[in-house]
Amino acid sequence: MQKIRVVEIFYSLQGEGANTGKPAVFVRLAGCNLDCSYCDTDWKSGKEMSVEEILLEIKKYPSKMVIWTGGEPTLQLTDEWLSHFSEFYNCIETNGTNSVPSGIDYISCSPKVSVEVLRKNFSKVNEFRFPVKKGYILPDINDLPRADNYFLSPIFEGNDLLQNKKNAENLEFCVNFIKENPTWILSFQSHKFLGFR
Ligand code: SF4
Repeated sequence: MQKIRVVEIFYSLQGEGANTGKPAVFVRLAGCNLDCSYCDTDWKSGKEMSVEEILLEIKKYPSKMVIWTGGEPTLQLTDEWLSHFSEFYNCIETNGTNSVPSGIDYISCSPKVSVEVLRKNFSKVNEFRFPVKKGYILPDINDLPRADNYFLSPIFEGNDLLQNKKNAENLEFCVNFIKENPTWILSFQSHKFLGFR
């Protein structure tokens, strides 16, 4: 079977969304089809790994939750590839540009595409996590594919996370929006605040 390009595999707690606090093995796949200005992820490096090599790495850890992240993991993940990981609870973090393989158990979509593209790619996801800056125009929740949870994630940049004026404005914008539109929920990238990956 074809190898897949992997940036890193590490064991940590999920820091965002409905699975916050759950231990999981993160498999960061290389490559992305977008180039967001606020992206803080290294997805350009990576080395080729086989199914066997990844399984060996993942099985070092006690958690059965695997989070396929990136970059954009749908660029490489296929049904055939995921069939070798069926003993795990497979989660994906995707930007919404492509549909996901059927072997995925949990879809977390952080959309960077139009509502029309999301509707084409998904009938339902487990969670949406919109990265939001002050002034961002959010879609009507009724136009989005169904989700168990709709999160707003204020964008935090730089080192002094809450001392940074722009970050504080992004947070305030999200809080006010959610108070007005109570189906939405605030999600933090808590790992950034707590200092774990
Ligand atoms: S889609 Fe995600 S990984 Fe790709 S550039 Fe944007 S923030 Fe970075």
